[in-house]
This record gives sequence, C-alpha cells and structure tokens, in this order.
Amino acid sequence: MDLLSTLVDKGLRRELPTREEALAVLATPDEELLDVVAAAGRVRRQWFGRRVKLNYLVNLKSGLCPEDCSYCSQRLGSKAGVLTYSWLKPDQAASAAAAGVAGGAKRVCLVASGRGPTDRDVDRVSKAIETIKEQHGDVEVCACLGLLSDGQAERLREAGADAYNHNLNTSEETYKDICTTHSYSDRVDTVRQARSAGLSACSGLIAGMGESDEDLVDVVFALRELDPDSVPVNFLIPFDGTPLAGTWQLTPQRCLRILAMVRFVCPDVEVRLAGGREVQLRSLQPLALHLANSIFLGDYLTSEGQAGKADLEMIADAGFEVEGADTTTLPGHRSEDLVAVRRRGAGTELPPNA
Ligand code: SF4
Repeated sequence: MDLLSTLVDKGLRRELPTREEALAVLATPDEELLDVVAAAGRVRRQWFGRRVKLNYLVNLKSGLCPEDCSYCSQRLGSKAGVLTYSWLKPDQAASAAAAGVAGGAKRVCLVASGRGPTDRDVDRVSKAIETIKEQHGDVEVCACLGLLSDGQAERLREAGADAYNHNLNTSEETYKDICTTHSYSDRVDTVRQARSAGLSACSGLIAGMGESDEDLVDVVFALRELDPDSVPVNFLIPFDGTPLAGTWQLTPQRCLRILAMVRFVCPDVEVRLAGGREVQLRSLQPLALHLANSIFLGDYLTSEGQAGKADLEMIADAGFEVEGADTTTLPGHRSEDLVAVRRRGAGTELPPNA
C-alpha cells in the first residue's frame, strides 16, 4: 500500500503512524501536495465532518513578561512595541468575550502573559470565568495563564473553566534553544496537571523557528503521548524586536504538509489553525480547512488576524460550516473520557489515546 493510503487507514482507526511515515509526509514534493491534503482531509472528515469550530482570544494581560521565549513579542526586553497592560477586570473580559460569541465563537480563550499565575491572579481569572459563564452559559472557556502551581488547575475548573492551554511549542531537544527561563518538562507538567484536574487539555506547537523535520515529528509524537483534546498549530510570526525577527523559513506548502502530518498523528483531536495563518499560509488558507477543524476568529493576541467576517466567508466559500453551540466538538469516545474523569473528580488521569 502506498504512503497516503496507509496513513488514511491508520487515521481512520486512530492508529499511530511510524516516525518514518510522519517524516515522509513532510518530505512530499509540491506536485503531490493536493494528494496529501486530500488524504489527511479524509481523516479530518471522519472525525469532524465539515465542521469548523471558532475560537476567540481575549488577552487578559499583555506584555512585560519576565520569561525569554525567543518567538514571543511579550518576552523580557522585547522591542516589538506590543500593547502592554495589566489584568482586564472581569466585566471588561466578559464584554471582550461577548464580541467573540457574537461573531460565532464557541470557545473563548483567556490569555495572560507571564511565567504563571499567582493565587491572586487565579482569583481574578476565576471571577472573569464566572462572569462570562453567567452571561453565556454555552460558551467554552479555556484559560492560558502559563505554568501552574499545585491546586490552581482545580480552582480554575471549580470556577467553570472547561479547558487549559499550554503549548509544548517545539521538541524537547530544541526547547533550550528557544527559552532558557523555563524547561520543556515544566510545560509537560502543567499540561498533565490541567488534565488530571478534569480540564480539557489544549497543547500545541509553533513551526518555523529553525527546527528540523525530526524536531517537528518529535513534538507532534510527544503531543500524541500527552493526549490533549486540542492541538493548536502556530506558524511563527517573526516579530521585529524579538530574537527570531527575520526568520522566514516556512512556505504555504510546508505549512499544509505540517498540518497534514499533525492530522495523521493526532487524527481524532481538535487541530486548530492558530497564530500566523494569514502571513504564512496566505492565499492557501482555505486548503488548511481540509486539515484543521478549528480556527481562531478574527484578531488574536498581539498580531492582526483577518477580520472575523472574512473568516466566515472563507469557511462558507470552501464548503465548510461553522460548528454550532449544540454540537459536541470531539468524537464520542474522547468526550466520554473527559466526562468520566470529571465525574471521578480531580487527580484521575485520562486513559491514553488508543
Ligand atoms: S511565558 Fe508566555 S508571555 Fe512570557 S515570553 Fe514566554 S510565551 Fe511570551
């Protein structure tokens, strides 16, 4: 059987491809790109149909971070000129979230810069979560606050958070090259803490930071093992004023191959098209919808996203539909696992993906 048929078969059965197969996807020539997209698209449709989940990002606190992540415009000493402010009030966060919900967002991601929250920060975010949930009972709330300390994930869950995001970003091997103020294993620990508190884990990567194909396969296989429910795939925006300024290593075709590889390795997981899609995928963004089943709507974090209206038009033009609030995003087996761990209570690990 040829490579793509093998990968489709494995994806439909939730079977892990080999590393060689994942590497071969990244090495396919441009003339075979549409075959790769079509094959990974079959796996995407099996688990998520033609639905696209919309997510909306609310920046609770921006800039002035003491950490030195080299890709980040909010890092220590950044000269990227991003907006800096400290903690939105709960009603400000709720009105920002309302704009996303009005645009069709099903999930609101509450993001704060910094190494991790203090207990007082968790109080503030808990109030914001409660206010958002009072106003929009159906919306999923994901917190993204950095490294968690003991008990913080449980408190966020009690406040009503549905999910927690913390990305691995790159392979364990190359992590020290992009950040020296915390480690890869710190990040893994936080994803595990969130998951065992009954929060849906969201963890992904950033491509285009100078990594090799092997690094990309390493981080995606590590994510499969960690088994988050959603995997955001970011493409580097090399902001001026950061150490990675001028690092333009991706092409739209390579971005599609990366997304296809992620889909084959994590077939039944919400693969989210995240930062950098406009600047790196450019006019090929609609093809990415055949691979990712989730996108950020409109403007996000410290960069300008496409306006929300243009996103909705792109989804409709490409023959996809926005996922409604009454639809469960994850396939039945994954959502049942999450419900089971919440019933059993915090401290229970989810079973690993098949
Ligand atoms: S910890 Fe977060 S906000 Fe701070 S530099 Fe790293 S990615 Fe940016």
